[in-house]
Amino acid sequence: MRNVVIIGSGCAGLTAAIYAARANLIPLVVRGSEAGGQLTLTTLVENYPGFPKGVQGPKLIELMQLQALEFGAKFLEGDVTRADLSRRPFVLDVGPERLETRTLIIASGASAKMLGLESERKLLGHGVSTCATCDGYFFRGKPVVVVGGGDTAAEEALFLTRYATEVSVIHRRGQLRASKIMQDRLHRNEKVKFVWNSVVTDVLDADKGEVTGVRLKDAPSGEETVRACAGVFIGIGHSPNTALFRGQLEMNEVGYLKTHDGSKTNVPGVFAAGDVQDHIYRQAVTAAGSGCMAAMDAERFLEAEH
Ligand code: NDP
Repeated sequence: MRNVVIIGSGCAGLTAAIYAARANLIPLVVRGSEAGGQLTLTTLVENYPGFPKGVQGPKLIELMQLQALEFGAKFLEGDVTRADLSRRPFVLDVGPERLETRTLIIASGASAKMLGLESERKLLGHGVSTCATCDGYFFRGKPVVVVGGGDTAAEEALFLTRYATEVSVIHRRGQLRASKIMQDRLHRNEKVKFVWNSVVTDVLDADKGEVTGVRLKDAPSGEETVRACAGVFIGIGHSPNTALFRGQLEMNEVGYLKTHDGSKTNVPGVFAAGDVQDHIYRQAVTAAGSGCMAAMDAERFLEAEH
């Protein structure tokens, strides 16, 4: 029987682990298939306090994990495949292993959204990517496109200018929603081109098994064109990893967990932290802050029981 199991090993989960470990609760962190979370898919993080020159996302995660280990947190590889929150202790299956825990902190984060095209699915990993940091290098000396108009798309596009000959940002509206500083950087970079009011209707060429271009539909006129490229990076946001808890925990209409009074969910003893419950701020520092809150709430919950 565990005191605290933490699902997810991103910024929120690891901060919860540090706090729960320092409270002598010996938390167990189930790392998940996207271990380390979104920070492991990014490069320089310039807005995490304490790093005036910025810090590489994967490095920050590595340091947080070391810090959690230092205080006695335990780690388990794998994904939770089933969760029963209807009774206590809560029961979780991680592959063949069954865990029982008095409290649960859900920090399973959010995953990259896709456009939903058949060709996009077929070419994922063959020219279609959701991670410039992971795959940008493969597009040295080639033109690529980035879909989206937020900070994710802006960040992906800027990173890709290191390798690609040209980076076209394809956005369905006439203006970006990315932060001002990122917009300025994009506009200043000669490799970045903008394709406004355009929707990707197909990724070419699924039959060849490689990306040769994208078919675009101009939103106002409906006119279709083909833009040649060797890579397509999808940067249109994220959806929360909450499928396991459907019907068990309260969620909003798009699946983010609802919390109240700090990190509490509607099930006593179950807490949520990070992007899985935050569709507004979604920053490393806010995720870390909510991980801290969840660990403190779990500790208080356990204390109140004794
Ligand atoms: P956002 O929701 O901010 O932006 C998503 C973008 O993708 C929007 O421009 C949206 O268009 C577009 N989009 C969504 N769905 C589709 C679709 N089906 N087809 C085409 N386009 C689509 O998500 P982000 O991931 O960019 O950012 C989320 C949060 O994380 C923000 O708060 C952001 O500031 C933060 N962030 C911060 C970073 C940093 O500080 N370094 C880095 C990355 C993210 P439309 O504009 O029309 O809605």
